[in-house]
Amino acid sequence: MTATADHKTLAERASKELADATAEEALRWTADTFGDDFIVASNMQDAVLIDLATKVKPDVDVLFLETGYHFPETIGTRDAVQTVYPDVKIVNAQAAQSVAEQDAEYGPKLHERDPNQCCFLRKVVPLRQTLAKYSAWVTGVRRVDAPTRANTPIVTWDDRNGLVKVNPIAAWTDEEFNGYIREHGILENPLVSIGYLSIGCAPCTARVEPGADPRSGRWAGKSKTECGLHG
Ligand code: SF4
Repeated sequence: MTATADHKTLAERASKELADATAEEALRWTADTFGDDFIVASNMQDAVLIDLATKVKPDVDVLFLETGYHFPETIGTRDAVQTVYPDVKIVNAQAAQSVAEQDAEYGPKLHERDPNQCCFLRKVVPLRQTLAKYSAWVTGVRRVDAPTRANTPIVTWDDRNGLVKVNPIAAWTDEEFNGYIREHGILENPLVSIGYLSIGCAPCTARVEPGADPRSGRWAGKSKTECGLHG
């Protein structure tokens, strides 16, 4: 189903009513309101959000942007998620072109010459096409991720993609987030333990120095800091 004008009104009301909701409350509201008609996005850095979502909907849809450029560890984490949470339905959203086809049309390593164009083709468009089938999506965006995310609401209307957006762990600190992983034995991408603290496509993700901003490893050396998925 696609979102309607009523969903925008709903999001605006829920934005106020759920402004201080816990992650569990936000996800319960999402499942009660949308039933099967929502999807949880994951970059397969960890399964925190998936674990929380399966508590309210064990067979929840999980969106993974399969760009063709992921680390093997990230693909392995995706496959491990399917094993640990056998009822979830992983939706692998892919670009219209394979990497080889993109190379043939735009030249090799577009991510080095024009990462915005590469992200648009391999992330933004597949995301939009997938979200068009749902009325709401759930993300793991947190306010501490970056200054641009400092005011992230728990529930909002995503004007760019035209559906309700729920950010259940927006208010979580790093301590709360890491504590949840430890206490619940949550699956984590093995790259995290060797210093990859914000994991995206392999050519655009670097290890982060101890104490540095976790997102400094994304598109290091380029002016780009966001994929264009949440801005
Ligand atoms: Fe391309 Fe890099 Fe964006 Fe991945 S993160 S889609 S490789 S520019």
